[in-house]
Amino acid sequence: MKNQIKSTTFMFLLFSFVFLTGCSMKASALTPGKTTLTGEIDKIHELVLRTYHSIHGHPELGKKEFNTQKLIIKELKELGYTEFIASTLTPTAVITILDTKKPGPVIALRSEMDARPLAGGGKEPESHSPRSLIPGVMHNCGHDVHASILLGAAGILIKNTHVLSGKIVFIFQPAEEIKGGADDIVNEGLLKKLGIQKMFAQHSAGGTPVGTVSISPGYTLAGSNYFTLNVKGKQSHAAMPSEGSDVPLASAHLIQGLSYLPARRIDITNRPVIISVSNVSTTAGALNVLPPDATIKGTIRAFEDLTEAPAKGKSIKKIIDNYLSGASAAHDVTSEFSIRKGAPPTYNNPELYNSVVKKLGDAWPGVLDTTPYRGMFSEDFSYYTREVPCLYFGLGIRKGNLGTKGVHSVDFTIHPDALKHGLRLMTLIAQIATRGDVLLK
Ligand SMILES: [Zn+2]
Ligand SMILES: [Zn+2]
Repeated sequence: MKNQIKSTTFMFLLFSFVFLTGCSMKASALTPGKTTLTGEIDKIHELVLRTYHSIHGHPELGKKEFNTQKLIIKELKELGYTEFIASTLTPTAVITILDTKKPGPVIALRSEMDARPLAGGGKEPESHSPRSLIPGVMHNCGHDVHASILLGAAGILIKNTHVLSGKIVFIFQPAEEIKGGADDIVNEGLLKKLGIQKMFAQHSAGGTPVGTVSISPGYTLAGSNYFTLNVKGKQSHAAMPSEGSDVPLASAHLIQGLSYLPARRIDITNRPVIISVSNVSTTAGALNVLPPDATIKGTIRAFEDLTEAPAKGKSIKKIIDNYLSGASAAHDVTSEFSIRKGAPPTYNNPELYNSVVKKLGDAWPGVLDTTPYRGMFSEDFSYYTREVPCLYFGLGIRKGNLGTKGVHSVDFTIHPDALKHGLRLMTLIAQIATRGDVLLK
């Protein structure tokens, strides 16, 4: 009896399935081209906008993206994603896979999730909408934008697997702004474990008009390095600098000298380098004392390893060391210089560029800017670019008086129309990178 009920129920369900599926297939066959990318973007836009507002209003710093993670998982589940890949080193990451069950490559689309601290615990300007509700923390690098877009792209693609093949891995990555984001995901071996063969990402580009997307092949963003220079000398009364080393004045000379080095000691046409001092401190107490030490910190941006010498010339580290030993002696101080490596340079794989960008240009309704570009910013997406062929796109966010400022500014905003363009970019790339053509346009 039980079996009979079961089998009757099964037959009914099977009939309903065939009937309903047949119906919907017939309907779409009768109305070819009814599903358009613009239509799909319009349908998901409300979710993307709502997610953007929510994440922007509740920014979280790197490695602490707990609520952002919860929100993204909740929405992904509602879109039909059921399995999430846990990461030990980046426990706040959200990683899920769309398996089309068709042969094809495994590609990954990546967004970040983390916000940034505001200097002095400041607040996001009241004129902004959406606006951070958390004092001292703000999404002023657009990671809320990228995460919301990736969520929307996951929603469009899961409904349209007929325009894809292979697998799409969605990586919502924590901690781009601090160490332990992309580098931890790579170090954990997740790219290898998931068989990822190509990766793509986009980043808000302040000042670039909405509708414009930019991409440049080869090395496009510099590697970052951080340095500390400890200067020591003889303390004296400020009224008698001749009795000591005048460490503050010596430090001022060293800062100037360091900043000039790229322009005068390095062939910057072929070896772009920036040395910037961003923090100076001394153990000074009273204003009538010249202190015996100073600490100078900053960043060095370059496309090369600072300790490796090119075929002709010296390594950047060697050039700095040479300068500091001479200049320190001239100013009667000693100095100790050390470098900590940050993210490597970001590399847009030329073969992948050639296979994707022409097709993207054919399908892109706005401006696809392929002007060669090298920026001295750095980005931890670079860690992926050392592992598999990758492309990193710039997304225009400026319209009217929104999106005019660069990232990391407290005045950073985006025009919400940028969200739709980011969605289009991700869904077009997913098709081109897995199938080689664009069906949903
Ligand atoms: Zn940033
Ligand atoms: Zn960023």
